[in-house]
Amino acid sequence: MTFETKELLLFCFLLNKNIMSSSEIESIECLIIGSGPAGYTAAIYAARADLKPVVYTGLQMGGQLTTTTEVDNFPGYPKGVTGPVMMEDLQHQAERFGTDVRFGIIDKVDFQKYPFQATTDSGKIVEARTVIISTGATARWLGLESEKKFNGHGVSACATCDGFFFRGMDIAVVGGGDTACEEASYLAKLGRKVYLIVRRDELRASKAMQHRVMHTSNIEIIWNAVTEEITGDGKVVTGARLRDTKTDTVREIEIQGFFVAIGHSPNTEIFKGQIDLDEQGYIKTIPGSTRTNIEGVFAAGDVQDHVYRQAVTAAGTGCMAAIEAERWLGEKV
Ligand code: NDP
Repeated sequence: MTFETKELLLFCFLLNKNIMSSSEIESIECLIIGSGPAGYTAAIYAARADLKPVVYTGLQMGGQLTTTTEVDNFPGYPKGVTGPVMMEDLQHQAERFGTDVRFGIIDKVDFQKYPFQATTDSGKIVEARTVIISTGATARWLGLESEKKFNGHGVSACATCDGFFFRGMDIAVVGGGDTACEEASYLAKLGRKVYLIVRRDELRASKAMQHRVMHTSNIEIIWNAVTEEITGDGKVVTGARLRDTKTDTVREIEIQGFFVAIGHSPNTEIFKGQIDLDEQGYIKTIPGSTRTNIEGVFAAGDVQDHVYRQAVTAAGTGCMAAIEAERWLGEKV
């Protein structure tokens, strides 16, 4: 055999092996998609129930909390903890009971087939008897460079998580929906003054929330305003430059905290057409449970919750999903 023939054979063997491994089907009991507090808590419970869960982490391993600094409101951390450390703790706890945590993305699901099928970004097919979706949601940002630069140093998308750091300070909240109004009301109790920056001349929020912000003495609504820049001293936020869209004039405000509350997008792109979503794209669950319209598929955390959006509520629904998955499998046998 010539050198070229040997090389060709080796190439064919590797190609074949690659094709084989990418089309190989793995059968598992419980697939968990997403690795935030919901996914890892589901994994802890599913692993302890001997469902041998496999977690596909998604690109942002650990989820939204890995982009925050201090987490002071998760029970069990009396001195607080950083988001990334907390998520590593959760991962290790899930692994301690045998969870198989894989860094990878599920690209496609087929819930019409049973066992359910999921395809990874490398083409591998996983066949699962039960699926827990915990892909979370992504906060929408304004898209300013300065917003990225000061993220975690004065810029945040969660008042309940970070508001505490701005006690007695001046704060801005951007947005005109229920979230922005709720964040502004929450921050008004902690801060000295809150500017609510609204891009139109009306709020989208419910009448009750509008009433609340308009009758809170230390909230000032700045109408028809877009944020051009968040300014700072190089380390932390010190102000924001706003443009009035009606008069085309610029105004500077002095603030120490800048909260973006312009909505969240649930990470449900791959589930469209596979499972019932509400009009905003969140997965619909049966009230009081994590059950979806597909029996055997459960949803936990922010992917099905646009109201609370807390790590602890996500963890709670993760626990519920694992218990429900275990019971559902038990009834199916
Ligand atoms: P919404 O989509 O309702 O509101 C987003 C707000 O942000 C709108 O005022 C929008 O302005 C503004 N906005 C969007 N993009 C920009 C931008 N680039 N610059 C400036 N402003 C921008 O999101 P929410 O998170 O407020 O609410 C989501 C859902 O959750 C809603 O159905 C809400 O009712 C619900 N919710 C319920 C709560 C409760 O019941 N307690 C609490 C919180 C939320 P514009 O109006 O001009 O489009």
